[in-house]
Amino acid sequence: MIQITSPAAIRNIMQSHGISCRKSLGQNFLVDNNIINKIIASAELAKSDLVVEIGPGLGALTAQIASAAGKVIAVEVDRGLLAVLSEVLEGVQNLEVILDDALKIDFDRLVGESTGGEYGRSGKKYKLMANLPYYITSPVLMHLLLGRFNISIILIMIQAEVAERLAAPPGSKTYGSLSLAVQYFTVPEILFRVPRTVFYPKPGVDSAVVRLTVRSEPAVVVRDENMFFNIVRSAFGQRRKTLLNSLAGSGLGIDREACLRALENAGIDPGRRGETLSMAEFASLTDSILEVSG
Ligand code: SAM
Repeated sequence: MIQITSPAAIRNIMQSHGISCRKSLGQNFLVDNNIINKIIASAELAKSDLVVEIGPGLGALTAQIASAAGKVIAVEVDRGLLAVLSEVLEGVQNLEVILDDALKIDFDRLVGESTGGEYGRSGKKYKLMANLPYYITSPVLMHLLLGRFNISIILIMIQAEVAERLAAPPGSKTYGSLSLAVQYFTVPEILFRVPRTVFYPKPGVDSAVVRLTVRSEPAVVVRDENMFFNIVRSAFGQRRKTLLNSLAGSGLGIDREACLRALENAGIDPGRRGETLSMAEFASLTDSILEVSG
């Protein structure tokens, strides 16, 4: 195994393979062993853990995950990094590197096939870790959540400002449809902030490490989950509008009168804004919209 946690080491190894950092793939590599150790400690890894890592990059985090966990399956989209990864992680036995796009993967199937069904859909739960590329943070999260994969925790490093959104309570400026989706499926905790200086190349923003503990059941019970998320999206579509105007003017296909009745039945003032509604209120609004729309 080679140490690649310094800008000089990264430059050297990439140069020797004739490649360079691809900004378009969000390639900002970690160059700080303390941060890597803190991330590993936060995942509370044991030899019984199977970890899927999205975006191993040059393997800085991957190497440490592999020494603490039972097995790592690392999914990297950049073919150009594969040769570097196998040089850096040479001799690491409990690692499988997959060349693929994390947004397209059925993770349960991947780990099921790799472990003969021991982990995955009808097997044991696994952990997901990533220093996520900023450009796909929300789509990756939505893919992981809506896929209902058999994951116990998602430990991710993301842009600090997005981390705030994931954990935001109702009424706060950063509360939005991403907060609701994440809090519906998981319990989010912002663990610590990470300054931009620990990456090479240095990004324009700071990051934060977030742990999402996946709930065994969603936080609220709704009769129609698609409708619930459509209502949430409509309510936040135009943040300045009242709830009544957002819902009636959205693509939900429900007229103003019906929206008004649904809001009244749910005991929600139609003049409120979407950002003030709790998840429980969105759930009862969903049920009451379903009732009035037959
Ligand atoms: N884990 C490494 C580290 O911490 O130094 C690299 C993190 S870097 C922020 C993000 C990594 O994700 C890059 O290696 C990039 O090529 C990879 N990546 C970008 N888009 C991806 C996708 N759709 N699927 C899988 N990996 C992706």
